[in-house]
Formats: sequence, structure tokens, C-alpha cells
Amino acid sequence: MEDLLEGLNNAQYEAVTSTEGMIRVVAGAGSGKTRALSRRFAFLVNEIGILPGNILCVTFTNKSANEMRQRIHNLTGDKDTGYINTFHGFCVSILQEDSHAVQYPKSFLVLDNSDIDAMLKIIYEEKGLTLRDMTFSKARDLIEIIKLKERPDYYLDMITMSLDVLRQKYEEALSPKDMIFYGYLYQEKKCFGLDYNDLIKFCLYIFEQHEAIRLKWQKRLEYIMIDEFQDIDPPQYQLMEVLCGHHKNLFIVGDPDQTIYTWRGADVRYLLDFDKKFSNVKTIMMMENYRSTPQILSAANSLIDKNKNRIKKDLIPTLGGGEKVCCHYGADGDEEAGWIAGQIEALKNRGAAYREITVLYRAHYVTRAIEEAMLKAEIPYTIYSGVPFFGRAEIKDALSYLRMIAYQDDLSFLRIANVPKRQLGERRMKFIKDHAKNTGRSLYQALKDTIDDPIYKGTEAKQFITLVEKYSADYSRMRISELLSSLLNDSGYEKMLRTEGSQERLDNLAELKQSLHEYEINCGEESMLEHYLAHAALFSNSDTADRQQDKVKLMTVHAAKGLEFPYVFLCGMNEGIFPSRRVRTQPAMEEERRLAFVAMTRAEKKLYLTGADGRNLDGSPRYPSRFVFNIDQDLLEYTAPRKEELIKAARDYIQSSDQQLDEAETCAAFSAGQRVQHRFFGKGTIVETDLDKKAYMIQFDEMDTTRAITFKTKLSILKDD
Ligand code: ATP
Ligand code: MG
Repeated sequence: MEDLLEGLNNAQYEAVTSTEGMIRVVAGAGSGKTRALSRRFAFLVNEIGILPGNILCVTFTNKSANEMRQRIHNLTGDKDTGYINTFHGFCVSILQEDSHAVQYPKSFLVLDNSDIDAMLKIIYEEKGLTLRDMTFSKARDLIEIIKLKERPDYYLDMITMSLDVLRQKYEEALSPKDMIFYGYLYQEKKCFGLDYNDLIKFCLYIFEQHEAIRLKWQKRLEYIMIDEFQDIDPPQYQLMEVLCGHHKNLFIVGDPDQTIYTWRGADVRYLLDFDKKFSNVKTIMMMENYRSTPQILSAANSLIDKNKNRIKKDLIPTLGGGEKVCCHYGADGDEEAGWIAGQIEALKNRGAAYREITVLYRAHYVTRAIEEAMLKAEIPYTIYSGVPFFGRAEIKDALSYLRMIAYQDDLSFLRIANVPKRQLGERRMKFIKDHAKNTGRSLYQALKDTIDDPIYKGTEAKQFITLVEKYSADYSRMRISELLSSLLNDSGYEKMLRTEGSQERLDNLAELKQSLHEYEINCGEESMLEHYLAHAALFSNSDTADRQQDKVKLMTVHAAKGLEFPYVFLCGMNEGIFPSRRVRTQPAMEEERRLAFVAMTRAEKKLYLTGADGRNLDGSPRYPSRFVFNIDQDLLEYTAPRKEELIKAARDYIQSSDQQLDEAETCAAFSAGQRVQHRFFGKGTIVETDLDKKAYMIQFDEMDTTRAITFKTKLSILKDD
């Protein structure tokens, strides 16, 4: 008992020991919210005697879920750490138990972007669409907009329509938009695939339709805790409301100043209005910061204070000592990166370990210069979530082999049937696809059905079937890591990589095997192939590659949420980079400022802000970020005096940009996803608002491509059509 409650301040003590009812913690960065949350979990288990399996703990990223699991494991000594997961990960657990309620098998697939792209490829081929009609990434956005805003009940089609009916809707579709949407729903259903939106919608539907299942989960989850509540979105909130409906023990923690996912539908009002939605809410505030030096905190406070739409609160330091926040501008991006590398070496010489140092940036493209400088200085580093680890080609291939064994689905088939080369090129693939289309069979079945056809002469199709059949029969008796090794060997996949000399890819496969091995150790009984595959789609490399290697970490600010590091370099502090040039409205600028605040408050001992002077690619002068000007200048220590003309020009630029933001707000009356009616073109959906052109991009129902329509045009809102 002593241990668990030791080292907690009064507010934390109260948060940990107030176990019953509705509790809200609103507190600033580094004030020990997450610490209180994990202690509370352990308190429930160790002191109150609750089974971990009766507690749901929701984190924002897989990385924090893993860390939390580790912490809870250390605190309780219990291997069973209950449900510690992201909302999506938890939905996978629900569906693995109850997907039968929507006639989906346990072996449903969780789709990531590259799976969706593979489906789009099939649709584009079948319908003669090209990337010029719409890029895959725009098509993914379109599908998302339709699912979230335009037709939020789309999932009923997926659940209630048979595959044939969906296919028919797809065949009958006239506009590219409908072709893409129904083609996608058809492809999803065909392989029992679910994307991130579906995961939550399906769970909500099951709970709504099946009282017994809902009650089972409601009763099971005696205590629910949610971290980073300021970034919860409406479907997640709905799910939370259902889940806590029986025991009504809900504990949420958040910081309104760290809302950084509004662009994806998050809504901070759920945190702010929590006490109005539920009765008898106890609110706990935490003011002290245990993470950063006073210098770092004053700088962060003075930045976030410039947001107008905010409840004022300052972080109070508990730590002493420390150095001023350091600010450096290089002559150009390469010089900036070189300076960072030099400082890292200096820190290392003064006794810091590489792993204590993190470089944060707004967007990935900034990393090129940094990486080059690191390589030149021979500083070891890892990039987090660049190409997600599980998105790398060789990793997807390996997982597709596993999926092929478990599900024999079309996506996996398309990915690996001819990798390594088995002479199943385009002509033979088309033959297989045609057969599948005509008979309604899966591609693999179609291949098996037609294997005696002379078209396969000279191919290794038969060997492929033998491989799949052999392991399909055996896999339930094998460990997953063992299965993967055998598959990669017998299929000739690893040999192919060796012949190509792709050492990096082989290393990545070794890393995958290692993570599988750890997964088996952590999950014990549960480590079934289906379970692994369902969760793997939710992982990214920031979740796995975190072995205690002595390397500098490079990551985006979004990925750093909730984490802390002794030394932080926040680079690319220039107008157009951070804030991003895509920010076009005041609310978006305030979100961007919160993002900078999140970045600064990750630092424990020392914070460096860096940027570059010189010119942008288009020749325009490159100005320092307004966020640097937002900080009380006395709190910054510049490595060199700044040129007065540059500072003046930058301030002028920022002032006029600010005015534009004010103007933009009054112009764009509609937002992406809204259904509108145009006098001549009829009904349509706003795909995006282009604040540069002061125009909406609208996909009209009767048109093939999107059209730009100026803000000035009269449009009316369509409610339900
Ligand atoms: P964020 O808003 O960034 O997610 P947080 O409020 O979740 O921050 P934590 O990560 O829980 O903050 O804690 C920040 C740091 O302060 C951690 O290193 C934690 O161990 C330490 N800490 C928290 N509470 C205390 C305390 N009472 N005494 C000493 N250290 C503490
Ligand atoms: Mg936290």
C-alpha cells in the first residue's frame, strides 16, 4: 500500500483513491496525470481486489498502451494486465469475441491504408478509373468523409446486404464516387475486412442491436479509465457512454491545452462539459509540473498564453535549476541540421546518452537534412513512424504470407502469389480474376479450381498451392514465430531478398520475428495467429522498435504526445513549416500553437529551438516561426544576435498573415464533408476548402471529377437527402 501511494501529491492521491463514480482530472502537461492513472489501475487491483480483466484503460497510442502495460505489470506483478489499449485496439477485442452477431467470422481483417489502396487498385482496374481521376489518398479521404459525415449509417449496408447485393450496387454505380464507395464496401465485405471507422461503428451497432452482448461488456467493465481525453472524437465518446452504462465508474484525464486532433474530429468540449453531461462528477485539478525545468515551463506558458480561445492556467514548476531555452537559426536547413548534430555530440561528451535525446519536427519531410547530418557525424538514430514499420513492403509481404495461411483472402493473394516470381504475371492473374468474378469465388479458390488449365504451364502455381495447403493444415499447432520462419524459408521469400542483397529488409524481417517472439511471451495462451493478425494492423514502428538502444530518437510532435525526454531539439521553427503552410484559419492556428506547446513540454532538462534563415524553395524569404516570437524573448538564449531587418520583415509578414487568417474565417462558410446544393450543378459534397483559391472543391453527384466553386457562390445546405 505504502509503495503504491508513495510519491503522490494530494491531488494525485485523491485521483488514485477515488475509485467509484465519475471522476475528471483536468491538468496541465507533465503534472502526473498518466502517473495517477496507472497507479489507480494498480490500486484497484492490489488494494480493492478487482480483476485486471474487469478494468478498461484507454490510451491514445499503441506506444503508450505498451508502456502502460509494462508499468501495470511492474506495479501489480500480474501477467494479466486486462484491457489496456487504444479505442481501436479494444474494439478488435470486442469483435474477436462477438463479431458473430454481425455474421462476421473471428478471422476478420483489420485494414490499413495499404490494404485499402490494394482494394482501390482492383476497383480502378475494373472500372477503368485512373489516378488522374482521383489519387488513392484522395479516394481514401473521400471514403472517410462519406463514412463519417455524409452517410454515417453506411455500416448497415455492410452488415445487412449480401455480397451479391453489394456487388450489384457497385456494378450499377454511375459516378466515380459511387463506384469507389460501393466497390470499396464490396471489397471489404468480400474479405471480411474492417477499417478503423468500421471497428467502432460495428461495435456500436452490436451493442445497440444485441442487449445481451452489450450487458455482458457493460458488466464486465467495472472500471473504465481514459487518458488524453481532450482528443476524444464523437464515435469514441459514444462507445465510452455505452460501456460505462452499467457500473458508471469512469475516470478521465485530459489537458485542453493539448488538443491536437481537432482536424480528425476530436472535440475538447467533451472534456470541458463532462460535468454537465453526467451528474455527481468530481473534478480534480493538478497544477504542479514534475517534468521540466522552470525555464522550459515559463517559455511554454508564455507561448500557450497567446491563444485567445483558452482557459488560463499556468504550470508551476517543482524542479529547480536548469538552463535557458536555447535558440539557434542556421544560414540554411543543412546548417541548422549540422548545428543540431554538433550539439548532440557536445551533450554526449558531457555525459548524456544518445537515447536521452530526441529531435522533434512538425512534418516528416524535415528529416532529410537531419538524417544526413546524423550520418555524417556518425550519430546513431532511429526514426519513429516514418514509414510505419508494419507498412514496409517486406513486413506487409511477411504478414500477407501469414494471412494467406489463416484466411486465404484476396488481398494477401494479390500481394504474394507472385512474390517471389512464380510466373503468375498479368495475363495469368487476369485469367484468375475473371474466373473468380464469374464464379464469385476467392482468387485463391479460383486458382485451385483451374489449376489443371494449360495456362499455368511453366509456372510454380502448383508449388504455391502445396505451400498454402500444407501450412493451412498445420498452423494451429505451430508457434507463430516458427510458422513465419518456415514460410519465409519454404516460399523462397528470404532467398529472394538475399539474392537482391537487401540487408535492410532482412534486418526488418528479423525485427518482425523478434517482436513476434515477444508477443508470444507477453500474450501466452492468447497468442493465436488470428489474434495477432487482427492487432498487427494497428501497430506501427513506434510501438515495437523501442528497445533500449542507445540511439537518438527522431519523431513528429504528434507521435511524441504523452512522452517525455531529457533533451529535446524542436527543429524547423520557421513560418511555413511550423506553423505549417496549410494553416488557414485562426482556430487551426491555435491548434498549431497547442502542438508547439505539446512539443516544448516534452523536454525535461533542456530545450533547443532551431530553424533556418535564407530562402524557401520558391525563392521567398524564410522567416522565423511566429511561435518563437510568441515566447517572451527574455526567456530565450540566442546563439547569435538576430539581424534587425530580418526580424522586422518577419514581424510584418506575420502580422499580414494574421490578418488573412481573420479574413479567411469569415469567408469559408462550409466545411469538408458537408452536403450542399448548387443552382446549376445540383447536389454535391464538399471534398475540401481551398483557402488559397478561396474556393470549395466539390464532388457533384452527377459529375466525374471534382469542381472548384468560389466561396462567393450561393450554396445551400442539404440536411437529409
Ligand atoms: P502529459 O500531459 O504530457 O501527458 P502527464 O500529466 O501525463 O503529462 P506524467 O507523464 O504522468 O504527466 O508525469 C510527468 C513526469 O512527472 C513523469 O516523469 C512522472 O514520473 C513524474 N511525476 C508525476 N507525479 C510525480 C510526483 N508526485 N512526484 C514526483 N514525480 C512525479
Ligand atoms: Mg500523460
